[in-house]
Amino acid sequence: MLSVFQMTMEERMPKYKFDCEECNRQWWEWLGIKDPLPEKCPHCEQGKPFKVPTNFVTMKKEVQEKKTAKENVVDHIEENRKILKQMKTEATK
Ligand SMILES: [Zn+2]
Repeated sequence: MLSVFQMTMEERMPKYKFDCEECNRQWWEWLGIKDPLPEKCPHCEQGKPFKVPTNFVTMKKEVQEKKTAKENVVDHIEENRKILKQMKTEATK
């Protein structure tokens, strides 16, 4: 279960939010699970950035959006089928 999760994380290249305690800037960076964390803030080059844990929220959102899109497609197919059936009924009249 854990290895599947890690694989998904690697493939997705999650976006992490970073926060600098020196200049208080916040920014996003794409990082693979094995990529090292940035050691210096790219803005002031003094502060040590720390990771803001927001990734789980975005991942959950993504999954939900995908599910909704799939459901929409199914709905659409179902609707087309109904129209097709109606057209056939009308043609045989
Ligand atoms: Zn900084």
